[in-house]
Amino acid sequence: MTTLPDCRARDAADPLRPLRDLFALPEGVIYLDGNSLGPLPRATAARVARTVEREWGDGLIRSWNSAGWYDMPRRLGDRIAGWIGAGAGEVVATDTTSINLYKVLSAALDIAAADQPGRKVVLSERSNFPTDLYIAQALCRERGCELRLLEEPGAIPQALQAGDVAVLMLTHVNYRTGAMHDMAALAALARRHGVLTVWDLAHSAGAVPLDLRGAGADFAVGCSYKYLNGGPGAPAFAWVHPGHADRFWQPLAGWWSHAAPFEFTPDYRPAPGIARYLCGTQPVLSLVALECGLDTLDAALPLGGMQALRSKSLALTDLFIELAEQRCAGQGLSLVTPRAHASRGSQVCIARAEGAYAIVQALIARGVIGDFRAPDILRFGFTPLYLGFEDVWHAVEQLRQVLETGEWQRPEFNQRNAVT
Ligand SMILES: *Cc1c(COP(=O)(O)O)cnc(C)c1O
Repeated sequence: MTTLPDCRARDAADPLRPLRDLFALPEGVIYLDGNSLGPLPRATAARVARTVEREWGDGLIRSWNSAGWYDMPRRLGDRIAGWIGAGAGEVVATDTTSINLYKVLSAALDIAAADQPGRKVVLSERSNFPTDLYIAQALCRERGCELRLLEEPGAIPQALQAGDVAVLMLTHVNYRTGAMHDMAALAALARRHGVLTVWDLAHSAGAVPLDLRGAGADFAVGCSYKYLNGGPGAPAFAWVHPGHADRFWQPLAGWWSHAAPFEFTPDYRPAPGIARYLCGTQPVLSLVALECGLDTLDAALPLGGMQALRSKSLALTDLFIELAEQRCAGQGLSLVTPRAHASRGSQVCIARAEGAYAIVQALIARGVIGDFRAPDILRFGFTPLYLGFEDVWHAVEQLRQVLETGEWQRPEFNQRNAVT
């Protein structure tokens, strides 16, 4: 059985330990929600202030050129590319995940309509994140396509054989369960059946090893306010395989996606490559904050990069599962996240039939911040950049106390807030 001194020894031997100092985490908080909103990097406040005061205040409109504002979506896109297995010039940081999904799914349907006009189905999972399903529903309505939803991931291979499927749209790591798809296997299978793949990497980018190019994926989008620590509402990203990027306009063809926006011509001419996936003027302050978030990940590169992050993430989640099962046995908890390393991301989800929401609130009051996902899930994200093994120990200890004392039943923990 793992003890608290064991956890301390593992922290002392952890090569990623110094990275914790890159974050301004409040005293007394164990933050297990970096999968929903990454914490504040120490560098962000001063960097954003400098952009406001010097680049905006002094530089004024000149800063679009002199401070490099104009190039930021592509420059940050290139940095994100390294974490998702894409090449330089293939990614833009822009807009939201929802909006980017609209753009890439639309392009995927255009390609399918041109190459295989009989195919009109978008295949996905009923358990996918709602915005992904809503965007797909909207697009299917516009285009007379069908959104076909599967109940179980195991049903995907057979469903790909139907002959009418145009696009397989999946979220790589499921937000509610933490289960992870085998991207390489599914992308290869989809390709064999003539189906394009669109991947949502919201819970994968910066959290697990990704190789979009190696997997033969076609399109991807993802969030940067989760594991990329870009700040609330930070610009998301979009990747399009270079073989597809120039084939069609995307539907939100604003002036920033034009080949020569400052010619101000009345006729649209798309920029070559991924630049056409921009739309309008970019939120510079948010992009600057995202740059600071990417710096925190890049700080792991000399310490072993994604391989080191992934092995620590698995060690942290393994420990959390082990301790929760030992120390909270008999408390009605059941593990939802798959145990197999290859089948899970960087979060652990636990179901409890009664009181899941209130238990999370009671934990938050004790400084252990996780979140609740309806109807019965306690969700804990583990980010190896700033979490240690001792944190895992204390988190489980607080959970044990909340359950054993019945503290979660207090009325103040049972009032629902708007954001859970
Ligand atoms: C967090 C998340 C989103 C969020 O999309 P926004 O447009 O940023 O609100 C989308 N998809 C998945 C799978 C997510 O987990």
